[in-house]
Amino acid sequence: MKKSISTIIKHSSFSKINRSANPAVVRASTILFDSMQELASHEKKILLDKPITHYAYGRYGSQTTIELQKIVKELEQAHHVFLHSTGFGSVSLAFMALCQSGDEVLVGDNVYYPTREITEKLLPKYNIKTKYYDPNNIKDLESKITKKTKLIFVENPGSITFEFQDLIEIIKLAKKNNIITAMDNTWGTPLYFKPLLLGFDVSISSATKYFSGHSDAMGGTLAVNKKTYSKVKFCDKLLGSRLSADEAYLIIRGIRTLDVRLKAHYENTTKIVNFLKKQKKIKEVLYPHKPGSKNYKMWKKYYTGATGLLSVLIKAKSKASVLKFVNKLELFGIGYSWGGFESLAIYHDVSKSRNFYKFEKNEHLVRIHVGLEDSKDLIADLKNSLKYIK
Ligand SMILES: *Cc1c(COP(=O)(O)O)cnc(C)c1O
Repeated sequence: MKKSISTIIKHSSFSKINRSANPAVVRASTILFDSMQELASHEKKILLDKPITHYAYGRYGSQTTIELQKIVKELEQAHHVFLHSTGFGSVSLAFMALCQSGDEVLVGDNVYYPTREITEKLLPKYNIKTKYYDPNNIKDLESKITKKTKLIFVENPGSITFEFQDLIEIIKLAKKNNIITAMDNTWGTPLYFKPLLLGFDVSISSATKYFSGHSDAMGGTLAVNKKTYSKVKFCDKLLGSRLSADEAYLIIRGIRTLDVRLKAHYENTTKIVNFLKKQKKIKEVLYPHKPGSKNYKMWKKYYTGATGLLSVLIKAKSKASVLKFVNKLELFGIGYSWGGFESLAIYHDVSKSRNFYKFEKNEHLVRIHVGLEDSKDLIADLKNSLKYIK
């Protein structure tokens, strides 16, 4: 029977070990074998990529992480999924595994700030050069491709500024020039967009966000196609970033309701966006909501849904008054990360980490995560705080 993904994420990984509806949390470093021969044959199975129920050593994972790998593999329609202790662990592995000395990488100008730090500060140590491309201009990307370009790293939509790119055009250019493509897909999750099915070689999600969904666990997933599997496997093993069984358990528990939660985030966000776009103090809502806009068209072309993260562009003479707007919100917590059940707001100054995004004078960005609270309460809270903006 062909099952829908909503069913798969609920039913996958029913435990055969303890008969509970959920997998057991298997914490282990040492794994015991009956004999040296059994150990050797197990190692051989792993080497040949045969299906296994457990690893030979805890660093590579446990029964619990294998269950999470299975679920994410279905979600991503991947050849294989690697798990890491944070989303950022997955991002850095992509660069370390896919590039080497002498290579060039092309990175969207609007990537998550720590990703930019890797390319600015870590990759030069290994003689890998980064060029940033304008996410709103495919010609700019094309003009920066050289014979040395090994990887194009895309984050879609862009961090904080939420530009949506014409992804298939990027893939076409990459294929033509024999370049590997990786996408950070944390915003949309593989429920709403599957990068590998479109033609990306690598798809990354911070499992800390919507997969876990409860702001109490961290993890990262890196899904690969056949072409990149061996390269990534090699580095994944040697760099030693491992997801614990406890975090894997929490992420599995979160993923069970990914579809239901995302639908609720989307419904709430639509209501909040409809309120925000009518506010005079808000110049623009950075979210795919205007049918005539490029961002909306590109979102519609690739995604089957939208999630709860957006930014508002505020025009105000006083930065202090925008900070006050954020501080006075009662239901929106101030803090990093997002994707949990709760609403968040944070002031971001991205002007120093962008080459292409042009800020006008007196423009301020506040990033908002719309949680699962009652939207009427959230709107009342926003309305109350907006009055502080001057
Ligand atoms: C949070 C985030 C990451 C990093 O994930 P962590 O789990 O916090 O390490 C990477 N990319 C994007 C787009 C993110 O939002």
